[in-house]
Amino acid sequence: MSASTPGPPVDDDEARLRVGPPADHAAGLRAVRLSMTNAVRQMGVVKATRNLRALNQVDGIDCMSCAWPDPKGHRHTAEFCENGAKAVAWEGTRETVEPGFFAAHSLTDLAGRTDHWLEQQGRLVHPMVRRDGAEHYEPISWDDAFALIGTHLNGLAGPDEAVFYTSGRASNEAAFLYQLLARAYGTNNLPDCSNMCHESTSAGLARTIGVGKGSVSLQDLHEADLIVVSGQNPGTNHPRMLTALETAKRNGARILAINPLPEAGLLRFDNPQKARGLAGRGTGLADELLQIRSNGDLALWQAFGQLLLLAEDAAPGTVLDRAFVEGYTTGFEEWQRHVRAVDRAAVLAATGLTWAQIETAAAMLASSKRIVHCWAMGITQHHNAVATIKEFVNVALAQGMIGKPGAGLCPVRGHSNVQGDRTMGIWEKPPAFFLDALGAEFGFAPPREHGFDAADAVRAFRDRRAKVFVALGGNFVAAMSDTDVTTEAMRGAELTVQISTKLNRSHVAAGRTALILPTLGRSEQDLTGGRVQRVTVEDSMSEVHASRGRSAPAGPLLRSEVDIVCGIAAATLGDRHGIPWRDFPVDYDRIRDRIGRVVPGCADYAERIRAQGGFTMPHGPRDSRTFPTPEGKAVFTVSPLEVLSVPPGRLVLQTIRSHDQFNTTIYGLDDRYRGIRSGRRVVFISAEDLAELGFADGDFVDLVSEWTDDRVRRAERFRLVQYSTPKGCVAAYYPETNPLVPLDSQAAVSGTPTSKWVVVRLERAAAPASDQR
Ligand code: SF4
Repeated sequence: MSASTPGPPVDDDEARLRVGPPADHAAGLRAVRLSMTNAVRQMGVVKATRNLRALNQVDGIDCMSCAWPDPKGHRHTAEFCENGAKAVAWEGTRETVEPGFFAAHSLTDLAGRTDHWLEQQGRLVHPMVRRDGAEHYEPISWDDAFALIGTHLNGLAGPDEAVFYTSGRASNEAAFLYQLLARAYGTNNLPDCSNMCHESTSAGLARTIGVGKGSVSLQDLHEADLIVVSGQNPGTNHPRMLTALETAKRNGARILAINPLPEAGLLRFDNPQKARGLAGRGTGLADELLQIRSNGDLALWQAFGQLLLLAEDAAPGTVLDRAFVEGYTTGFEEWQRHVRAVDRAAVLAATGLTWAQIETAAAMLASSKRIVHCWAMGITQHHNAVATIKEFVNVALAQGMIGKPGAGLCPVRGHSNVQGDRTMGIWEKPPAFFLDALGAEFGFAPPREHGFDAADAVRAFRDRRAKVFVALGGNFVAAMSDTDVTTEAMRGAELTVQISTKLNRSHVAAGRTALILPTLGRSEQDLTGGRVQRVTVEDSMSEVHASRGRSAPAGPLLRSEVDIVCGIAAATLGDRHGIPWRDFPVDYDRIRDRIGRVVPGCADYAERIRAQGGFTMPHGPRDSRTFPTPEGKAVFTVSPLEVLSVPPGRLVLQTIRSHDQFNTTIYGLDDRYRGIRSGRRVVFISAEDLAELGFADGDFVDLVSEWTDDRVRRAERFRLVQYSTPKGCVAAYYPETNPLVPLDSQAAVSGTPTSKWVVVRLERAAAPASDQR
């Protein structure tokens, strides 16, 4: 079978695209000005001031954007970054999408709009239904919506025909009840956005240190003498991390950055909280920047291992931590035999670096006593991502960098509560101890078979093995790989249910019957049950704290996620198992009491989240060098060195975000750190590749991906932008390029889509008709 993708939606005029030089620093006065201008434009002065003053404060609003932690002690009046302000403005907009909007816009019309346009229309304020065969959504009451869901779920041949997806914004309380709903209904089909981002981290860390979470605190970054930032763009994706990097630098740390693109946020930070930052005299960040080829990290870290062993041979007792290796680990001998034999020519081919560059970076590792290893999706979205993360761990173990101040493993997660949702049981592969505790607390036998992850869910809908899709937030269709396959799959569902704040692509790729259930945003007052309710979240460093919204809800009909989950559960399960679904929304402490009895590390949860700033989840490796692996020790692992190559004339595409973007949410059409204005359909490509392939900067191309099946995956009309990127490696924004990522191209073990390794060819295309360049 062969199919081609439709052309780009047309309401954002890419003919206005402008390309300038990339920035050499992040943040600064301009970031402050843009944040405030946008916030006031979207929310008005009063609401903007109220929300931003409460953002990331104790007993304030937890930022709904990334999962970077808050400081323990003093907090600034403006304890947020430019992108946190954008997220609050996006949610707090005064624009609303009323039922009349849907009467005016058919699904066909909406399908032709860009993601940016869809989300700009405003907040969803009324439950809507698309009846089977209809071209328009129409209003529906909450009770009828819940009854409709219950009828569909109870009419399925079995519970595994339903899928319950979760985005990383859902609170701990909503997530806990949602997984309870799914399991009381009878399925572990609980895919989440983690399947698409840090699943490789969870898999790699769980096997090696016994806990699938990072082992550092913010203080560890401040105290480190070396911070390695791999496959990460903190200036755009976790901007307050730059404050931690700045503090570390001022305390004497060095930074080693390893990334294909020289991102502004790796180069210099002009801290807008400080006069010198506002004056443009910021802090230089990376002491060394290795512009590595995409997928070269596994080879690089095996080379680091080899060079550290050689340095230890030359000066015994100065590089490795023998006492740690002997006391707390297993597998060192096999690992050291493997990396000593690593072929340097293969390393150079995989990384595109010189051996001198690799030696310089390895010397930084060898001479450091407190090292924090940070990484993000530049690492996790590869075929061999789990092996690469295990290689980070190997080097950290060899140097004893776990469970001591100023050192550790720091996966930086992208969505504010993605880690907390997993802690609360959102996982298609739940551990037996969790199911045992859940079943004992609620008096039923949870299903034991593993469920669908995100890619499995798409395959199940494509093959009509799944029939009902419920999404607790997010934009599954845009976030997932192989957009056209995913869209077709979801359109075949009997029922799709989207619990959402704003209109997005997933509402357009609707099932035969489809519901939109509008929910409160995190910045809005939650008065469910007639009282002020708080929710809780867990950040990237296992800190749990409460969040309380301040603003009036965008509309009177909005309900909290907790209330909606309980409404679905009551309509579907009634009093099956005797779970008191109608009691939970009255007081969220009733949920927290249950969390405290089910979730390890959360005893007395309701009490502990009342403490100022919350509490820290236990973490054996960090707290006591206790490693809950089957071996009872941290585990060195051996992975074969891989050198991936592409056929002649082909390139490796990595999908990236712009600075005006958070995950699938497009705030605007600029990416000022990379010099892009008023457009998104660009491909960053090296001068060498342009010359070799016979193109020039400014030419237009279609991107065509090549995979083992015969499906044609094409993304049309991108402008080539000459950029500093390794030869053979190009980059372009998602979700526009998600149609190019084959559904079955997944990381080994974790199943994460390989969005940083997509083999593409370029085909010459015409410039936009109105192009004025
Ligand atoms: S760093 Fe992340 S969590 Fe903090 S304000 Fe910025 S976007 Fe929000």
